[in-house]
Amino acid sequence: MLDTSKSLIQVLADPKGILKGVEVIVKRDDLIDPVVSGNKWRKLKYNIREAERRKNERILTFGGAYSNHLIATAKAAAMAGIRCIGIVRGEELDEFSNPTLSSCADFGMQLVFISRDEYRMRNDKMYLEQLHEAYENTFIIPEGGANYFGMIGCQEIWKEIQGMSFSRTYVAAGTGTTAAGLLSALPEGNHLHVVSALKGDFMPGEIRNHLHYAFFDEELTADLMKNCTIYDDSVWGGYGKLDDRLTGFVDFVMKEFDLPLDKVYTAKAFFRLLQHIEEGAIQPGEKVLFIHTGGLQGN
Ligand SMILES: *Cc1c(COP(=O)(O)O)cnc(C)c1O
Repeated sequence: MLDTSKSLIQVLADPKGILKGVEVIVKRDDLIDPVVSGNKWRKLKYNIREAERRKNERILTFGGAYSNHLIATAKAAAMAGIRCIGIVRGEELDEFSNPTLSSCADFGMQLVFISRDEYRMRNDKMYLEQLHEAYENTFIIPEGGANYFGMIGCQEIWKEIQGMSFSRTYVAAGTGTTAAGLLSALPEGNHLHVVSALKGDFMPGEIRNHLHYAFFDEELTADLMKNCTIYDDSVWGGYGKLDDRLTGFVDFVMKEFDLPLDKVYTAKAFFRLLQHIEEGAIQPGEKVLFIHTGGLQGN
């Protein structure tokens, strides 16, 4: 199976002083694997382990046409030697519609294409029961690996940077599972800045739910939530929206810091960090952690 030893720690070199004396350290989870990159591997690890423990014959999960989670699941399942099914949003698609879907099929994932209406039911209890009947002995992983097993996999990031301390951590969010995992084991003195790739004010609720499902403790959840600040994506116009400013920013960061970012998630999170430095919200000499969650598949 994959290990995370390829996830290096990169201290950003800043000869031009763009970071104004703030020390930025990047946890390069994008390097874990070219396909199962970043947080996707962390979220799948204990899910696959649980499917094996239960002696399930296969795993089943959900994703959109370009889903990083879907292709990561396809490869991780192939490596673990467990069969898998991907339920894909869009009945008009097939495995030749784009490179992400073709790769999923090449890894041996069985693809099932469904309508947007049906896809909306992906977390409904009744619908999941129907899937369990249709596909016997199957372990179902929610879209994005957004469950307890996904969350505890993300806690492990801290173990790999033990001994280093940071005043702030920046991370991108989609389902908020990675953020919840980080928050549930956040070291003293660190504050988590969660940059959502989606528009809308639901992200705090999502993260709170993940924590609450894990701990069943209102007070602990409320206390943990105080250690994070969450930003929604209204500045960029929502999930997957690209504009020249964002594309230019990705090129700028590559050139100045030798750091490749994806445009859906990590670019937006890194932009926030630089904005906070620019605004003077972070003091010179502070040590800040940026978690590179990956997403470069399909770039
Ligand atoms: C999936 C993904 C995320 C979102 O992670 P969540 O745990 O769903 O919040 C962030 N960054 C990248 C690169 C991703 O592919």
